[in-house]
Amino acid sequence: MSTKKVELIVSPATPHFVGDGFRVHNFIPSKFRLDMKRMDPFIMLDYNSKYDFPASENPKGVGVHPHRGFETVTVAYQGKIAHHDSNGGGGIIGEGDVQWMTAASGVLHKEYHEENFSKNGGVFQMVQLWINLPAKDKMSAPKYQAIKNDKITKVQLANNAGEVEVIAGEYKNVKGIASTFSPIHMLNVKLNKGAVANFSYPKEYNTAIVIIEGGIKINNNENAPTDHFVLFENDGENFKIEANEDAVVLVLGGKPLNEPIAARGPFVMNTQKELVQAFDDFNNGKFGYLE
Ligand code: MN
Repeated sequence: MSTKKVELIVSPATPHFVGDGFRVHNFIPSKFRLDMKRMDPFIMLDYNSKYDFPASENPKGVGVHPHRGFETVTVAYQGKIAHHDSNGGGGIIGEGDVQWMTAASGVLHKEYHEENFSKNGGVFQMVQLWINLPAKDKMSAPKYQAIKNDKITKVQLANNAGEVEVIAGEYKNVKGIASTFSPIHMLNVKLNKGAVANFSYPKEYNTAIVIIEGGIKINNNENAPTDHFVLFENDGENFKIEANEDAVVLVLGGKPLNEPIAARGPFVMNTQKELVQAFDDFNNGKFGYLE
């Protein structure tokens, strides 16, 4: 077993608004060397770094829009988000919760600040990922997993070093609650200052870290500050994170699907023909109805 080395530490891009409720730095697929193939099956990552939204009577967010061919996963760190989809899925997620929506054959959904959060305003921080589905599952039935923080398995690290929340996949043989269509590890790692945690994924797994709070040192030699994205080489298995100060990081590891990607707007399929079909189906009302 050898060390999985850091390939790139990526600074956050100039933020832009998605709708009027999400002020995000896009890392995947717009940053240099982070196209849809590089972190396959993680094909999109928007990061809303801490942003103080003023109070608003009308909840800010993104109106009704379709998706087909992948999953959207939202990890809330601060603030509250409401979600509704045309498949009947929906709910409110708050600090520490995760919403895992499998669009698959197609849903319409909308994503908004939760009503009370909106009325009071406040600091909002979240990550949204798009996770690609294997070709054989792209047209399966939509589903929705509301993962409240108290249902997320937590692994306590020795010597009060902190804890690892296992959202999906596993850590030290402890499995997470989310069901996935391909092998994925998604961990929320909370480390106290000076603490160290070790991780190991096969070398072919595309692996990255988003620094949510604090700053960390990786493999004893690479410092990554808050709001940065760390991409690992596809070589070696083991990596080490040390907290330079109290830190929270999102660790992502996934076995690449290695299938063709045909993507446009809210649809991610394997071929151009399937993309055209997605637009046709959407225009013909086959994604259902959502007010
Ligand atoms: Mn969406």
